[in-house]
Amino acid sequence: MLTARGLRKSFGDNEVLRGIDLTLHRGEVLVLIGPSGSGKTTVLRALNGLETPDAGTIEVAGGPDVDFAASGVPARIAKQQRLALRDRSAMVFQHHNLFPHFTVLQNVIEGPWRVQGRPKDEVVAEARVLLDRVGLSDKADARPHQLSGGQQQRVGIVRALALKPDLLLFDEPTSALDPELVGDVLVVIKELADEGWTMAVVTHELSFAREAADHVLFMDGGVVVEQGAPTQLFTAPQHERTQRFLTRIM
Ligand code: ATP
Repeated sequence: MLTARGLRKSFGDNEVLRGIDLTLHRGEVLVLIGPSGSGKTTVLRALNGLETPDAGTIEVAGGPDVDFAASGVPARIAKQQRLALRDRSAMVFQHHNLFPHFTVLQNVIEGPWRVQGRPKDEVVAEARVLLDRVGLSDKADARPHQLSGGQQQRVGIVRALALKPDLLLFDEPTSALDPELVGDVLVVIKELADEGWTMAVVTHELSFAREAADHVLFMDGGVVVEQGAPTQLFTAPQHERTQRFLTRIM
């Protein structure tokens, strides 16, 4: 459902992506791993339209190819392309980025109601069902600061689901959490994976990757060094850089 080819991105003279190719099939869970600074977040942000690559294409099923030519794309068109990608996907961030002055329910309905313009009654009803499924139906009227980090992150996930995206993107969704709160959030993500959501997940949680991923991609230095099924990549990595990385964090 999504194919990215030749994505390149520099920040000043820091070349962060050096030609990334990836494919994500409908219903598939793609996990991106790699050392800090290898470009994983930048890939997610490109897939979400938050970042404009300098070159490459992103093709999403049912939509036009988004072609980021190295030169000659007027900024106005690049913005339209980015917005097209943002319509199709929703991102869960490392820090949940909830509005602190809104209640949980207001945080969840803001996107589908105000941005997507859907009827308020409908989105409120859907939001309550989603909050119930992550065990937070009694927190609808609470403010984010009244919740634990794990509960806040589950609201972050519900907020993404409420947008009914084709593609869910998770950027290190548990790395800011206390260790005892990580499990509850991973369980929710794993359930979504089992339900058939299409998702790309940046994480350092290798046991989650092993259980939930259909495909794992190891990045280093802005390139995809190695990719494959989790059983193959974790038990018999082919590349010496992958082996070194896995030895360090396992
Ligand atoms: P981590 O695991 O630490 O989150 P990552 O693999 O996700 O790392 P990125 O966040 O994609 O890596 O960052 C890759 C490089 O790009 C880093 O050197 C980072 O400093 C740089 N970078 C990312 N975003 C920007 C930006 N907006 N402006 C300048 N440099 C940036």
